[in-house]
Amino acid sequence: KSKSLGRGTYVIFDQSMEQEASEILELERNLRTAIQNDQFIVHYQPIVDAATGKVEMIEALLRWNSPNGILSPDKFIPIAEEVGLINTLGELVLNKACEQTAYLKATTGAKFITSINVSAKQLRQPHFTNNLESMLHKYDLQPKDVQLEITENALVEEVECITNALKEIKTLGIRIAIDDFGTGYSSLSYLRKLPIDLIKIDQSFVKMLPNDEEHRAIIYTIISLACSLDLEIIAEGVEEKSQREILLSMGCKFIQGNLISHPVDLESIKLILGHTSPK
Ligand code: C2E
Ligand code: MG
Ligand code: MG
Ligand code: MG
Repeated sequence: KSKSLGRGTYVIFDQSMEQEASEILELERNLRTAIQNDQFIVHYQPIVDAATGKVEMIEALLRWNSPNGILSPDKFIPIAEEVGLINTLGELVLNKACEQTAYLKATTGAKFITSINVSAKQLRQPHFTNNLESMLHKYDLQPKDVQLEITENALVEEVECITNALKEIKTLGIRIAIDDFGTGYSSLSYLRKLPIDLIKIDQSFVKMLPNDEEHRAIIYTIISLACSLDLEIIAEGVEEKSQREILLSMGCKFIQGNLISHPVDLESIKLILGHTSPK
């Protein structure tokens, strides 16, 4: 596989590339079949107020309920992006998440926002905002019932197109979050121009809490930045009480992670929301 091995290895290199290509083809076929057979489901993870533990939002996370078990998005989203299926999958998630949000609101009476991940490709579709609007209408939801998450990395490709899309979405009254914040290269001045409402601190920083001084400093800086730009803040990947404590002491309002709950299926999130709904 290594190019430095010299001439003789080109054959091996070609073979492995061919194998990789046929694996992608097969995965693409399987993805198409899975879409036809409705094998995609949405799990939900609560996002809570760090101080009170009240569920304020839930994040919709896509799962492939395949014949070989439940697969995580990291296993198929990159391929879906590559073979042009991400818009179909994205639409499917949006539809299910909106339908289920309406169901959860009706059955639990709880107040919460559903946070939905979107890829940059989706945002660049000319009719994305219109589709979003008709989806809300279809399930009788208000714009404030949902928010969209876009990764910091996705923000920096085709800046103008993305910025315009975000502005349109914001005009609808839908909140926008930057996901995996701290791992990309967005600049302060760029951030300030975007119509965003909140920042999600990437879990790689949270993982090193509470003891790693450097990561503590990074998180503190992100929280101060969010504060001065008047943005809300969520820390992702909180697994330990000590992490929750230090985040709370640094002024982080919301937390999400296995300490609170793993992502769970629809009926389980319904129970979780039911417990925290006003009596
Ligand atoms: P993300 O949006 O940053 O989502 C958070 C990920 O961290 C989820 O992985 C979640 O299960 C995981 N996680 C939550 N709490 C903890 C924790 O305490 N510890 C650890 N180690 N992990 C935790 P998941 O569900 O596998 O999703 C991976 C990524 O796939 C997501 O990262 C998101 O970028 C993408 N994704 C998920 N659903 C969709 C979707 O519908 N559309 C698009 N475009 N991307 C999606
Ligand atoms: Mg996310
Ligand atoms: Mg994230
Ligand atoms: Mg991520």
